[in-house]
Amino acid sequence: MSNLETWSSVEVCSSSATAGPVREVLPSKAVMLGPGTEVRRLLPTLGRRMIGAWCFVDHYGPDEIAARPGMQVPPHPHIGLQTVSWLLDGEVHHRDSLGSDVLIRPGDLGLMTAGAGIAHSEQSPVPHGPLLHGAQLWVALPDAERAVAPRFEHHARLPVVTEPGVHATVLLGEVAGARSPGLVHTPLVGVDIALDPGADTPLPLEPDFEHAVLTVSGAPEIDGGELQAGSLCYLGSGRRDLRLRAPRGGRFLLLGGVPFAEEIVMWWNFVARTGQEVADARAHWQAGPPTGGADAAFAPVPGYDGPALAAPPLPPTPLKPRGRTR
Ligand code: MN
Repeated sequence: MSNLETWSSVEVCSSSATAGPVREVLPSKAVMLGPGTEVRRLLPTLGRRMIGAWCFVDHYGPDEIAARPGMQVPPHPHIGLQTVSWLLDGEVHHRDSLGSDVLIRPGDLGLMTAGAGIAHSEQSPVPHGPLLHGAQLWVALPDAERAVAPRFEHHARLPVVTEPGVHATVLLGEVAGARSPGLVHTPLVGVDIALDPGADTPLPLEPDFEHAVLTVSGAPEIDGGELQAGSLCYLGSGRRDLRLRAPRGGRFLLLGGVPFAEEIVMWWNFVARTGQEVADARAHWQAGPPTGGADAAFAPVPGYDGPALAAPPLPPTPLKPRGRTR
């Protein structure tokens, strides 16, 4: 998915960590992703920019798309991050400049490591089902590994941990000894947890991680309070477990990781370290596809019929690095 905002405000921020457990429901904002597709942008948000290395969280749907095109995101570039595509309902056709051509279904992990540079498109297939519901998540790569070669992983079989009333699918990282096959570059976790009606259980957490929960359906009780669908709740760090209750059932994503120590510059679809690096990546994309040779980043997306996305103008103020919180 592409960030279609024209530009985000630029601030200099300190990187003060939140030590210890907290419970903060974060504000969301509605963002248009092309005509007719609105998403809830939950990260970055006012007061918080990252959860571990997770640096971007969009939740979309469930949307009725039977008579509509659904998701239609033309080719666009990424650098310095991984994208995580997770569907709860519907399907998305992923194509990228490496030649990947994959239909991502509910329960599949689409993990794209942009590294030095990649371009991809995402489209609802034709024909497609009546509903579209999912999450698009980005993970910032650490400085030492942010220029790795791009890669795309499609994992249709992920580990599932089952306890009475609880079904946890491990997208990334490890839960209760079950480890995702997805390649990560910093210690982090991403889990889809479905609770049966009446569930009441503790979920073990890694105390060195900070965590957040995104409810995708129902209104489970997280750490003593209901969390409505479409809401992201920051939980801080230092927790060994989290109490989960769901009198009427519910489903959520748990995101966590070691607090990300580096300051990043995030603009459009790029995660970088300096404003100049962002400007260079933008100019590179706007210059059009490479003519060949070793310059494979931002190559055309095979099989996509139509124009690529143009980058928005850079903001008038210089881009400066920002830490985890504003
Ligand atoms: Mn994208």
